[in-house]
Amino acid sequence: MMDSALRKEIKGALVVALGEDKVLWEPADLLPYAADNSRMKADEVFKHPPDFVVLPESTSEVQAVVKLAAEHKIPLIPKGGGSNRTGMLIPIHGGIVIDTIRMNMVFEVSVPNLYVTVQPGITLKELEGYLAGYGLALNQEQGSFKVATIGGSISTAGFSRKCQKYGTISDRIMSLEIVLADGRVLRTGPKVLYTSTGYRLHQLFVGAEGTLGIITEATLRVEPIPESTEVLMGFFDDVWAAHEAALRMTGSGVTFASAELAEPADPETYGAPQGKRAIFCVSFEGTKGEVEADVDFVKGIFRETGGLLAGADDARRLFDEFTMLWCGDRATLEPEDETTAYVPTERVREFYDTLWNKTMPKYGMAPVPGSKYGIDIGRYSMSYCRFYIHHGERGWEDYRSALVEVARLAVALGGSISSCTGVGLKNKDEMALEFSDVALKMMWKIKSEFDPDNIMNPGKKLPTRKSGHPANGAAQD
Ligand SMILES: Cc1cc2nc3c(=O)[nH]c(=O)nc-3n(C[C@H](O)[C@H](O)[C@H](O)COP(=O)(O)OP(=O)(O)OC[C@H]3O[C@@H](n4cnc5c(N)ncnc54)[C@H](O)[C@@H]3O)c2cc1C
Repeated sequence: MMDSALRKEIKGALVVALGEDKVLWEPADLLPYAADNSRMKADEVFKHPPDFVVLPESTSEVQAVVKLAAEHKIPLIPKGGGSNRTGMLIPIHGGIVIDTIRMNMVFEVSVPNLYVTVQPGITLKELEGYLAGYGLALNQEQGSFKVATIGGSISTAGFSRKCQKYGTISDRIMSLEIVLADGRVLRTGPKVLYTSTGYRLHQLFVGAEGTLGIITEATLRVEPIPESTEVLMGFFDDVWAAHEAALRMTGSGVTFASAELAEPADPETYGAPQGKRAIFCVSFEGTKGEVEADVDFVKGIFRETGGLLAGADDARRLFDEFTMLWCGDRATLEPEDETTAYVPTERVREFYDTLWNKTMPKYGMAPVPGSKYGIDIGRYSMSYCRFYIHHGERGWEDYRSALVEVARLAVALGGSISSCTGVGLKNKDEMALEFSDVALKMMWKIKSEFDPDNIMNPGKKLPTRKSGHPANGAAQD
């Protein structure tokens, strides 16, 4: 943390560089920046406010802040919509939060080349609205899309509901502009989706969680809004009967935009007939003819695997409600959290069986009703579930122990501990379960090359190295 002489100097320099209305330093203004959407131990909440918050509007203003921080080795935490769920924004070492809320310009929309160039602070929803005016869409439909920003989505490797057809944000990046830890500007390459020339530097920033640099501009591939969209909803005996249908569908090679299955708490409210506990939602986008053919094909699979179809209008309405169940209505009075493991399809059942029959009961932890299973089907896979956390110190310890066991389980089944919520503080020690020493060493090397003084969101993503930063043997996390 800063001593008062340094604080005074930095405040003065920030105000000169940005103007007073773009710098926050009063404790009441800083407090909201001490928390994000992650679960925190009760006595840790609001314990780590930043020293300053800045609200830049341009790349050159970000550069000015970064140069100042680099000179004094002050931590920098870039912030988007603040919707991450793993503590990525907690300023555990104090420092300056760079809030990108005012960096929300659209610089260019190229209809013939199908791209858009934006500042990082624009939200996914704002951008989709803007692009719709050109008949285009980004299709990065995250549950948090009303608040999550382009910078935040790239930095968390955002998972989109429609990724089965359009890929994730990672697949849409053509070029990035980054302010590096010493204040230089890096442009990762030309505005092209495919090249066989340089290293793909932009991919290093996908899921980097602000630890390598600050994204100040992004050029992203967009698509024409499709002629036709359809939704199919099937009711099945249970989630594993629905999973059989899902495997038949993915094995057929049919194209779909999204596919999710779950056992909602109250399936009847989604139109499920008595005895059908699971629902399987599939959405399709494309030309009218192709969508009709694909819908018919999947209807056939549903029938052959014991699924009962909802009517077309009901399916669309229920699909929206079902989506809100997963995405929008997560606030509960009870403390709860989620896991978003990637588990290979053939081992998903083993994952959930072990999770709910062994791992969670060991710590007295129960699923949030209706959120025991949430499985994304297709090339991009996510096995999602929510569970309650007990109150008090013991509850917190049980929660932490359960997280480690869930991570071990996902890795043992050949998967990944987080397929959409990143690492932050929550999962960083479990990174050593998923990656070898060699792989982690390479990650630290990349980190130290980009950020030799470890000022970029320090203490996040990479596991703690007790021996210090490999690059200089000094900077501790
Ligand atoms: C209800 C709910 C639903 C969700 N659904 C989804 C979902 O469907 N898919 C999904 O992927 N996630 C989901 N999430 C998680 C979260 O919304 C995503 O991780 C989101 O991409 C974060 O974006 P943000 O703008 O809020 O980033 P923030 O939370 O502000 O920041 C996240 C990380 O990005 C870094 N960062 C932000 N801006 C920049 C920048 N310009 N340059 C460098 N680093 C930067 C920050 O330092 C931090 O490490 C959900 C969260 C909630 C609360």
